[in-house]
Amino acid sequence: MNTNFSKSKDLNERAKKVLVGGVNSPVRSFKRVGRHPIFATYGTGAKIYDADGNGYLDFVMSYGPHLFGHARSEIIEAVSKAMSGSSCFGMTHEAEIEWAELLLKRVPGAEKARALSSGTEACLTAVRLARGHTKRPILVKFSGNYHGHVDSLLMSAGSGVATLAHEQASVPECAGIPNELAQSTRVLKYNDVDAVKKLFAREGNKIAGVILEPIVGNMGVILPKKEFLKALREECTKAGALLIFDEVMTGLRVHKHSAQGLFGIVPDLSTFGKIVGGGLPLAALCGPAKIMDSLAPIGPVYQAGTLSGNPVGIAAGIRMMKLIDELNPYEKLEKLGAHMETVLLESAAEFKIPLVVNRVGSMISPFFSQNEVTNDEEASAGDMDHFVRFFWACVKHGWMLAPSPYEAWFLSHVHDEVLNPSFRDTARHIFKESLQKGPFQ
Ligand code: PLP
Repeated sequence: MNTNFSKSKDLNERAKKVLVGGVNSPVRSFKRVGRHPIFATYGTGAKIYDADGNGYLDFVMSYGPHLFGHARSEIIEAVSKAMSGSSCFGMTHEAEIEWAELLLKRVPGAEKARALSSGTEACLTAVRLARGHTKRPILVKFSGNYHGHVDSLLMSAGSGVATLAHEQASVPECAGIPNELAQSTRVLKYNDVDAVKKLFAREGNKIAGVILEPIVGNMGVILPKKEFLKALREECTKAGALLIFDEVMTGLRVHKHSAQGLFGIVPDLSTFGKIVGGGLPLAALCGPAKIMDSLAPIGPVYQAGTLSGNPVGIAAGIRMMKLIDELNPYEKLEKLGAHMETVLLESAAEFKIPLVVNRVGSMISPFFSQNEVTNDEEASAGDMDHFVRFFWACVKHGWMLAPSPYEAWFLSHVHDEVLNPSFRDTARHIFKESLQKGPFQ
């Protein structure tokens, strides 16, 4: 391992002159781990390579899309073929129908889809649709949940917002969002059934919708309590509010029918991104026709996009969903995830490092904490300095993590390396070294 990262350092100096903070998305900044970003050059399978020629077992996996690893040959082929017929038409094409058909058969209760270009756009449209369809103003979200950089949803958000929050108190509320708009959003604690019931008792007839990550990935992985999802479904139904599952991260990852299939709860609207576009900018909003038809051109809720449903993203999404049908990856993902969880817990225990691991299949999060982690407050109570030492020990031993304690780790179907005996040895070295001040602090 070449650990002076001199090429990344030079690239960062160049990037800072023309890109804000040297990055195009704040989550890629290494601010939280105290150094300049490591620059990627290419990925293949479960590995990613940096500008200095180092290879890593990648647990970022671009924050979720690569269910079958980087640069999967079938997806490259599909994309190349689509590209040769033009990257976008500005007209509807047949593959969009096939993509929607493949997606909708995996979304219980949904009849129609709208293709969009990012998870943010899908959640933004879900919020507008909920308000437009119900003709009500209030939106409910949960602290530590992240739904993209949507004005109505950037209160107490997770992911990059939480990562930067330790040093910039204004970020969770985000400058540029008018108070009048923020006041139409209610933020509750995740898994707090009482708070949900009280809010509905007080303002149920004004609530347009409740949006949540049905398994949170943006304050690390946090599972919903069964009674929490059940209460949300019941309260929304009683009040005539829409229950919106943000499955941008969990969609097609945790189960063939996503988190909603795993828990047997049918939301009114679902948003998807990441996997449904096979790693290209493509996302989706899905729901029953009676709600979705409130969108333009049928209904009064306007939404549009020049690149929406572009043939290249659609081809990648179709091939991804066909690969899921061909390879049925979920059993293997569970096996890899369970093994990884065991290795992390055993290695931490050996060095008496307090560790809690939250996991659903191939989404996994270690917290340097002794206590159960069920909400954002508990997630933040972990030892963040230990995370920073652990992060750099991982880099040194060839594991790439997101540079934040609030991001889930992702495994792909080709992460067989975690089953190798050498993986356990590497984990032991990493945990041991995480007790010492690392070479980069
Ligand atoms: N919703 C969730 C649950 C996410 O994890 C993300 C991004 O990570 C988004 C929405 C926003 O998606 P995008 O980054 O594609 O805009």
